[in-house]
Amino acid sequence: MGSVLPPDNHVHTEWSWDAPAEASMVRGCEQALAAGVPAVAFTDHLDFTTGTEADRITAEHIDPRPYARMHVLDVPGYLASVQECRRRYPDLRILTGAEIGEAHLWAASAQAVVAGAGFDRILGSLHAIPFGGKLTAADELFRRMPADQVMRLYFAELLRLVEGSDIFQVLAHLDFPRRMWPWSAAPYDERAYEPEIRAVLHALADGGRILEMNTKSPLASAELLQWWREAGGTAVSFGSDAHQPWRVGDRFKLAVDMAEAAGFRAGRDRFDFWRL
Ligand SMILES: [Zn+2]
Ligand SMILES: [Zn+2]
Repeated sequence: MGSVLPPDNHVHTEWSWDAPAEASMVRGCEQALAAGVPAVAFTDHLDFTTGTEADRITAEHIDPRPYARMHVLDVPGYLASVQECRRRYPDLRILTGAEIGEAHLWAASAQAVVAGAGFDRILGSLHAIPFGGKLTAADELFRRMPADQVMRLYFAELLRLVEGSDIFQVLAHLDFPRRMWPWSAAPYDERAYEPEIRAVLHALADGGRILEMNTKSPLASAELLQWWREAGGTAVSFGSDAHQPWRVGDRFKLAVDMAEAAGFRAGRDRFDFWRL
């Protein structure tokens, strides 16, 4: 028997506003079966473009500045698509979900959507940071300030996200801006942000929540997983963050090796998170 692969708990489909033309839930299911993951969670983006009076983004007078193509997830359409895939692929466990961006700023809007959806997996993400009164994408911040300053802003806001929202169970791509790390900057040095990262991990562990091993980002280091354990973290989730079907389960064997080396294991329930 080969090694057991974990569920892919972070996959996008044509229901995400940033989905490329090739995104397809059906093909994502086929790739999940081919890759040998026991389950796939379709966590399409749940982002908002206009705040309600009850959202912090409105109260704090932050301009959301959404991308032109950004639109709120069509939950009924998405759920119907999941049902159809469950009919077509009975051998695959298909979980519902969403990846909520900046949930602490959009708490009321997010709660209104999530309340009736019955999602199996909710991921919390920080893709943009309030800066100069505007919600600003991480890649734009790199054009405005030194890279290490972007990371400090990022981790500070990430702590506010974790402390300020309990709507999500899994914290996605902890060091997201690394994906856009400028070639002109000195190489990313995780230890330079150790206090900030540990603070985020502590807040996450205190809420009994889960750290994601995101295989689209640079893989989590052994040291980061050690910090997670020292913070009281007891579980990890694996996510390819695939926006193209062929990336479902991508680099999972590497991520599994990292998690196992840090002491995390599959449980009796192969659809569950991996735990200590
Ligand atoms: Zn994301
Ligand atoms: Zn994602």
